[in-house]
Amino acid sequence: MSNKIKMTTPIVEMDGDEMTRVMWKMIKETLIEPYVELKSEYYDLGLEKRDETNDQITIDSANAAKKYGVAVKCATITPNAQRVEEFGLKEMWKSPNATIRGILDGTVFRAPIIVKGIEPFIPRWKKPIIIARHAYGDVYKGAEEIVAKDEKAELVITAKNGEERRRLIHDFSGTNGIIQGQYNTDESIASFARSCFNYALDIKFDLWFATKDTISKKYDHRFKDIFDEIFQTEYKTKFEGAKIEYFYTLIDDAVARVVRTDGGFIWACKNYDGDVMSDMVASTFGSLGMMTSVLVSPDGTYEYEAAHGTVTAHFRKYNRGESTSTNSVATIFAWTGGLCKRGELDNLPELSSFAKNLEKACIETIESGTMTNDLLALSTLPEKSGVSTEKFLEAVAERLQKII
Ligand code: NAP
Ligand code: MG
Repeated sequence: MSNKIKMTTPIVEMDGDEMTRVMWKMIKETLIEPYVELKSEYYDLGLEKRDETNDQITIDSANAAKKYGVAVKCATITPNAQRVEEFGLKEMWKSPNATIRGILDGTVFRAPIIVKGIEPFIPRWKKPIIIARHAYGDVYKGAEEIVAKDEKAELVITAKNGEERRRLIHDFSGTNGIIQGQYNTDESIASFARSCFNYALDIKFDLWFATKDTISKKYDHRFKDIFDEIFQTEYKTKFEGAKIEYFYTLIDDAVARVVRTDGGFIWACKNYDGDVMSDMVASTFGSLGMMTSVLVSPDGTYEYEAAHGTVTAHFRKYNRGESTSTNSVATIFAWTGGLCKRGELDNLPELSSFAKNLEKACIETIESGTMTNDLLALSTLPEKSGVSTEKFLEAVAERLQKII
């Protein structure tokens, strides 16, 4: 009889493309399957399969995630014109992440993996700062126009019965100019808020949220009010129980504070702020290979993945038979995030603790000086060596065996 850890509910497995697909298989075979009787519902989101199924496979995988509650996803190619030609695609399929996010209606949380020897560029940051970006609306779905001299721009809202409300934006007398209209919906803001509150409770981190409500007295203020109302009515008591805080401030104050903290909180951002700040926070923490991401839906579905792409440049080398040194840590953490969550939901503590041990094995491997080349340049360890994709995974497997 096998003494592998048994699972009760399947984890939804979304396979992907290129170098991450290569690592996906290696991770499963060397780090997971020797210890876990993996019960997964497998969806191949590799580009060929998406094309073959007219992208139905992506939709099916998202529905499965909804059904089972936990998914783990490999990085996938988002096709552009060049990929359409390279793969002879029927269509320029949408980004799988966008399709999945559309179905799950979730928010993406990006979290860095912190190891000794790789210090953030802001040395005070000892704990992760997790950015939650509201990936809907605002300037990303805005309407823009160039306005000519002596034209007048107005905001017009038409009611169902045809009645109009008008407001002057600007009278461009004497000069050309520009104009932009943007929107958001209460529904989307409320989903965003619930995803943020749920995730903060899940990982027991404080939640920060910031807008410019002093200037944008209706638009940004609405975000502030919706967050506040949902917090007061649905989450305040739970936050008190978990000993965590919800903290609201102005966006400029938040930026000034963030650089002076030692980390350890979730920073919820409006769409544009999140776009800008997630790149700042990610590059301050170091390598893309150490950044994980999780999509959390307001109803509590979790989809874990690495924040980076399919690492095409390394895959080309791999295909030519050359040695690669691709960092698999974020992809491993996608698996451990998913398995740990599955263990929690199914009351299988041994599955969750296996996942934690695998994370520990990765961190200890790097902290003992064995790492992929992307980290070698960043590491301040006195003794360190850069190893290949395969050698790194072997080192993690060896360490895991010792831990378990
Ligand atoms: P990428 O795959 O993230 O790689 C960009 C560069 O970052 C790599 O060439 C490599 O730099 C470095 N890098 C990223 N991850 C690394 C890792 N794990 N280990 C070591 N180095 C790493 O981005 P991309 O090249 O712009 O995109 C490639 C494909 O991925 C595209 O088709 C894109 O659509 C897709 N993509 C998918 C997702 C997703 O599924 N979530 C996200 C982003 C992009 P060096 O070459 O200098 O070593
Ligand atoms: Mg950006």
